[in-house]
Amino acid sequence: MRSRADVVVVGGGIIGVAVAFYLAKRKFGQIVIVEKEPFLGAGSTSKAAGGIRAQFSTKANIEMSMLSEKLFCQFKEDTGSEALFDQVGYLFALSEDADVKTYTKQYELQRSVGLNVQLLKPEDIPTYAPHIRIDDIKLATFCHDDGLGDPSEFLRGYEKADREMGVGIEMECEVTGIARNGDKVTTVRTSKGDISTPLIVNCAGAWSALIARMAGGDVKVEPYKRQCVTTGELDFVKPFFPMVVDVKSGLYFHKESKGLLLGWADKDMKSSFDVSIEPDYTDTIIEKALDRIPQLETAEIANQWAGLYETTPDHQAIIGWDTEVQGLFHVTGFSGHGFMHAPAAGVVTSEIVAGQKPTIDISSLGPERFARGLVHHETNVI
Ligand SMILES: Cc1cc2nc3c(=O)[nH]c(=O)nc-3n(C[C@H](O)[C@H](O)[C@H](O)COP(=O)(O)OP(=O)(O)OC[C@H]3O[C@@H](n4cnc5c(N)ncnc54)[C@H](O)[C@@H]3O)c2cc1C
Repeated sequence: MRSRADVVVVGGGIIGVAVAFYLAKRKFGQIVIVEKEPFLGAGSTSKAAGGIRAQFSTKANIEMSMLSEKLFCQFKEDTGSEALFDQVGYLFALSEDADVKTYTKQYELQRSVGLNVQLLKPEDIPTYAPHIRIDDIKLATFCHDDGLGDPSEFLRGYEKADREMGVGIEMECEVTGIARNGDKVTTVRTSKGDISTPLIVNCAGAWSALIARMAGGDVKVEPYKRQCVTTGELDFVKPFFPMVVDVKSGLYFHKESKGLLLGWADKDMKSSFDVSIEPDYTDTIIEKALDRIPQLETAEIANQWAGLYETTPDHQAIIGWDTEVQGLFHVTGFSGHGFMHAPAAGVVTSEIVAGQKPTIDISSLGPERFARGLVHHETNVI
């Protein structure tokens, strides 16, 4: 293992490999990714549902997604690896008057930023997603540029390109401490030895607050369990079946293999690192799914799993320099959107770290926003 580096990226999930990719493209110097698990993506990245969408309620999130969607489309040209961004669209189904009002306002903001989103009448929904109960639906928003991707495919593509550009990747290498000289970071202490470095990029997802604390810093990220279920084959799931979000119940579903992936966020869950599968959680997901897709009655459960959302108080990512510790940069807290925002997060991080103005205005995502009271909540969280 290298004993010194120009930058140490802590965490080998989708954010860490994307950040390393864009830093390496800028020839940033010796870059080392350190990952505590035996393989990359072992944290939340391997648990993600694969949704990629730009329909958000804040300008920063819409723009992060629009840049990411562009980069997902040109992934092969950029990295040399194939990874499919299947633009089947995202459909938000709205059955409450309050939600119609909120999503119409969001739609106007999204259009003003240049997103190709449209409003759908309920009777248009079966064209995209057949066998969905629509009797109570009042309106839907739909964006064809949104869609699905396999997080592990994109992670492998970045990993391969990172290695080709000379990025060191250390597995089973747990960060156990961070040393400082005054306010400045000097050394990352790991289970495999020390790495001296002037710059640490904290991409440790749900664990990133622990990394910040090791350096005497702070990042407002907490872990929350989220669970998913997949079904066996279903004959009504066609290749163009979009991601559907039933806004009232919080249920989301999209095609997965020849069946559906069903997910829902239990917002009453307490913060913890527990990822055990809870049967009651699964039952609630199935109950909500049966209510919206009655044809699921005969479906079989193929798989289920639980993972962690790395959640911030305002459900927006934290991208920027630590407010106390020099040389510590955070790229974390994506609150359920880290896969879809990874390419843009990599780009803006590499720009800021290189001392440049980022392509997108992400001033609202800086860690200092909480102390300053400049918080804008992302409300379109699933
Ligand atoms: C059920 C579920 C569904 C989701 N669906 C979607 C979706 O549809 N679309 C979407 O965009 N996002 C989705 N997400 C969110 C997405 O998975 C995360 O936002 C994203 O994976 C975050 O990536 P990351 O690289 O920051 O974190 P991670 O993938 O968790 O990577 C962080 C890494 O840091 C490592 N690490 C931690 N501590 C240390 C240490 N001390 N030393 C060394 N390494 C360390 C961990 O082992 C881990 O590999 C979903 C999440 C869940 C749980």
